[in-house]
Amino acid sequence: MKYFIGIDIGGMSIKCGLVNQSGQILKWDSIVTIPQQDYTLTVKDICDLINKVVGDFGITLDDVSAVGMGIPGTVDAKRGVITYCNNINFRNTPIVEEMKKHLSLPVFIGNDANLAALGEVKFGSAKGEADVVFVTLGTGVGTGIIVDGKMIIGRNGAGAEGGHIVIKKGGLQCSCGQKGCWEAYASATALQKMAAKELEKHPESLIADLAKKEGKVSGKAVFDAAKMGDRLAKRLVKRYTENVSSGLVSLVNIFRPSCIIIGGGISNAGDGFFKPIQDYVSKNSYGRETCPRVEVRSAALKNDAGILGGVALAMDSLGL
Ligand SMILES: [Zn+2]
Repeated sequence: MKYFIGIDIGGMSIKCGLVNQSGQILKWDSIVTIPQQDYTLTVKDICDLINKVVGDFGITLDDVSAVGMGIPGTVDAKRGVITYCNNINFRNTPIVEEMKKHLSLPVFIGNDANLAALGEVKFGSAKGEADVVFVTLGTGVGTGIIVDGKMIIGRNGAGAEGGHIVIKKGGLQCSCGQKGCWEAYASATALQKMAAKELEKHPESLIADLAKKEGKVSGKAVFDAAKMGDRLAKRLVKRYTENVSSGLVSLVNIFRPSCIIIGGGISNAGDGFFKPIQDYVSKNSYGRETCPRVEVRSAALKNDAGILGGVALAMDSLGL
């Protein structure tokens, strides 16, 4: 039996999973991320965590084939360097070289959204498919693009940033410094901002009630209220799903995947979210009369996407 280690580096925690070739997580554990800590100490902590997880399962590192790591930033996978990471103190960090000081295993790294795409292809909603666009809607909009079975990463790994295609010239301010990026309209944060702004004008709406109960306006509250028939919520859902869809249509027209996989908290909203998006994409994609419909599906790996994406990368890199 071959085992793999998947590492999911996040702004809050670093998760480590021991996984078999079928994508089952056999053991996992996590540590708290210390964002400002020197990277050599973070690497040491990650290696200690790997040793703990492997030991807890009752095997040794000799039983492990490789380590795959997902990072929320720009990754130069060929050189094994994290070029830039927004939330953690990684700047041109030679993380693979540092890992190898502690571990005698192959270590592979990639951007987390790209690896989530790979994970969905290997173990999830797009199993076995060769042309896939993966989108995660959270604080920002992350994308991972698989063409002909290969992950597109661009020069120095800085490509495949679909969240920053401009959908409105001179539009809303984006976190990247540009204006009018898709992310500024389609992220969960964008939906929350949109809802908060409308609530000031409509304090009588059902979303206002839900927001009061929850202490904040959440994307979930907007979808819940729409399901209950609230007019403002329905309007917001319509506008938001159109925002999401218009970016998806652009990606479909460039990459023509067989499916689009959507992850992130919003993807739990069910039919009220997926149906309008499927309709819009089907109606507006180039070649809609002649090409098979591009299916819009929910991501399957959810919270395990980071770990299993890392493992998918490790397996792919070893030709498995
Ligand atoms: Zn942007």
